[in-house]
Amino acid sequence: MHYKVPYHPSLLPIFKQVSVEILLGGIDDELKSLNAMLKHTQEVEELSEYLYISHFLIQKSNCQNLGLHKLHCKICVSLLRYIKDIRPDKAFYEAGLSCKVEKQISMSFVFFNRFLDLADAIDDPNAGMDENNDFVYTDIPSVFDLSLPEKNYVDESKRSEIKDYILSISVQKKTELTLPSRTCERCGTKLYEYALSCKKCQYKWEPCIVTGVPLFANVPSIKCKFCGRNAAKECWNEYVQKTQHCPWCDNVQTIY
Ligand SMILES: [Zn+2]
Ligand SMILES: [Zn+2]
Repeated sequence: MHYKVPYHPSLLPIFKQVSVEILLGGIDDELKSLNAMLKHTQEVEELSEYLYISHFLIQKSNCQNLGLHKLHCKICVSLLRYIKDIRPDKAFYEAGLSCKVEKQISMSFVFFNRFLDLADAIDDPNAGMDENNDFVYTDIPSVFDLSLPEKNYVDESKRSEIKDYILSISVQKKTELTLPSRTCERCGTKLYEYALSCKKCQYKWEPCIVTGVPLFANVPSIKCKFCGRNAAKECWNEYVQKTQHCPWCDNVQTIY
């Protein structure tokens, strides 16, 4: 689709349909066109989630290509909150793998475990899945709300490597293998570190435009002077040092 299609409310179902299809299986060029198209419609609330998802998928490739592994890992983890709209098994696989590379052992353990559950469910759709306590404090959608792809994303031998890795971690078990948490600054509830909303008080945080991490009160953040979007200062500086551009509006930018 050409991104300069002017938006009109009657086109909303078509814009939604195009977004859903490209987010699920689009190649990078299609994602970029979709993202540009959605940027022209960012005042439409129903499409703003798709705008963020397309942005973070593009940022994931960017950071990987630039060798910004720490940022790439944060983006993979942030993307898990959108697994109703992107391929969930791939998202958990990439989150598990990037956390393993970054030595975030607990997170890699939890995400790879969930990946293996999904892979089994894809192999045998009748087997059923259990929800577990790992995700209680998170805004990562429940396995019961996902639609699974027909075929597995990685082959049997890769999956058995992951099983061995998980087993070796649970045998060593140096730390508690749970997801990192923080406290809701509004109501004091225990929350997942990457959650963009509090289940108890419904408060919402904005995601950093570099990595998607939540910009809660005690995260030092900066605002792009061109697009007005916010980013965690640490993520921004690492990204802009390498690219000299804002990841959202692409204007030339400096570190803070
Ligand atoms: Zn709260
Ligand atoms: Zn900007």
